[in-house]
Amino acid sequence: MPHIKITMTAELADYLRSVSLQEPEILQRLREETAAHPQAGMQITPEQGQFMALLVHLLNARLTLEVGVFTGYSSLAVALALPAAGKIIACDISSEFTAIARKYWREAGVEQKIDLRLAPAIQTLDALIAQGRSGTFDFAFIDADKENYANYYERALVLLRPGGLIAVDNVLWHGRVIDPAANDADTRAIRAFNATMRTDKRVWQTMVPVGDGLTLAVKK
Ligand code: CA
Repeated sequence: MPHIKITMTAELADYLRSVSLQEPEILQRLREETAAHPQAGMQITPEQGQFMALLVHLLNARLTLEVGVFTGYSSLAVALALPAAGKIIACDISSEFTAIARKYWREAGVEQKIDLRLAPAIQTLDALIAQGRSGTFDFAFIDADKENYANYYERALVLLRPGGLIAVDNVLWHGRVIDPAANDADTRAIRAFNATMRTDKRVWQTMVPVGDGLTLAVKK
């Protein structure tokens, strides 16, 4: 591996967790409940949750967006990092998955910070723009259907304040981005999205190899 400093092995990941991870007990329980779910692979890693919480602190974020809630790990990690008056507008289309999320939000005492919008996220984001809320969000996490990544990104960028941050998940797509045999719509959408980011002059960006690859873009 000449181009990178280390290869993350299971043993190194265990070490990293042992010296760095401070996962609240409620997040651990949610993670364990979700691990039994047939789509458990959609859950972010606890390191990524802690990293996102750090970003929320760094930004002094008060108002955030989440596109793709699933069972709520990322939104709970962000909600716990937000101040008492902080708010997340969380978009998802599954009442079944988000019922699990709601249960943990309630138990963690952060339910009042999370405004769940059960509708296609493009509708929700367009409605926020139409309501004059452009330029008001501090942070956005995009982790939903990959074919709409560019649509979500464009709208999130409008809704973000200058200096606000968008985090886009799964940009390495379990390695399929470099697999010539992978030509499904999701993989093509992620490749296309990634290919536009490097020259997007509206942001400062970098791709971070945490979890399944996370692109961070700060609005200029
Ligand atoms: Ca994801």
